[in-house]
Amino acid sequence: MIAANVASFDIEEHDRIEAAAGLTCSAELKSDYAARMEASTRRLLDQLAAAKVAATFFVVGEIARTHPKLVRDIHAAGHEVGSHSWDHRRVHRFTPESFREDLRASKDALEQVTGAAVFGFRAPTFSVTRDTGWAIDALAECGFEYDSSIFPVRHDRYGISDAPRVPFIAQGREREILELPPLTYRVAGMNLPVAGGGYFRLFPLFVMRAGLRQAARAAVPQVGMLYFHPWEFDPTQPKLPLKRLARWRTYVGVGKTAARLARLLGAFPFRRAIDAVRDIRASGVELPRFRIG
Ligand SMILES: [Zn+2]
Repeated sequence: MIAANVASFDIEEHDRIEAAAGLTCSAELKSDYAARMEASTRRLLDQLAAAKVAATFFVVGEIARTHPKLVRDIHAAGHEVGSHSWDHRRVHRFTPESFREDLRASKDALEQVTGAAVFGFRAPTFSVTRDTGWAIDALAECGFEYDSSIFPVRHDRYGISDAPRVPFIAQGREREILELPPLTYRVAGMNLPVAGGGYFRLFPLFVMRAGLRQAARAAVPQVGMLYFHPWEFDPTQPKLPLKRLARWRTYVGVGKTAARLARLLGAFPFRRAIDAVRDIRASGVELPRFRIG
């Protein structure tokens, strides 16, 4: 069956992460995080070039304004540029109308700097859930071809635990969109979220690799969608003043990530998400349908 692995990078400054919501950062620290976001992303571009891997970058729209050269360089290196919203607010913070405006603003800003169409979207903190199913309609209305925001896991902050683990058609109220869920590993009747985050930084790489191997064996089209952030590759960054658990969750394993990513890139074939989407469409194979809205 059609199977592809996608290395995706959510490009945001470190102070935009969900765990930092409610914290006030000095202007000086914010500008340091912005500079580090660019430097880390450029190191990732070098690492991808060395491994000859084309990836998908979901970029915060505002970064197209503040760092246009960086976004152009991502595109020029052969990677796909998708949207990671305008300024990294969770979908729960919007009405359907204001969410459409946010989508259009980010898509336009990114398209203007690269001169290429934006096809894909990733919601901040995977915040397309049962409560925000109307986001599916908005994404289709704004011309996105696919979404990668629904995590089929049980988690305190995100996820639709009974959503398919394979590419599926997410049905909103009236419209639908192709959904590429982040990789999970099915074991002992549970979906483990092995696509990135703590699973990438905390656990030995074999869990993520087992997930990718399971994806490659699927009898239906499957996409091993992984996700990473530039701040996860910056062990010397100043730490945010987070509470103990959030601090541990955020920074555990940050010193090991570059080497781990290199091993993954060397061990598995990777493509851009939009290429996997086109293959799936061209195959004419019927995908599972799942109603959210
Ligand atoms: Zn994000």
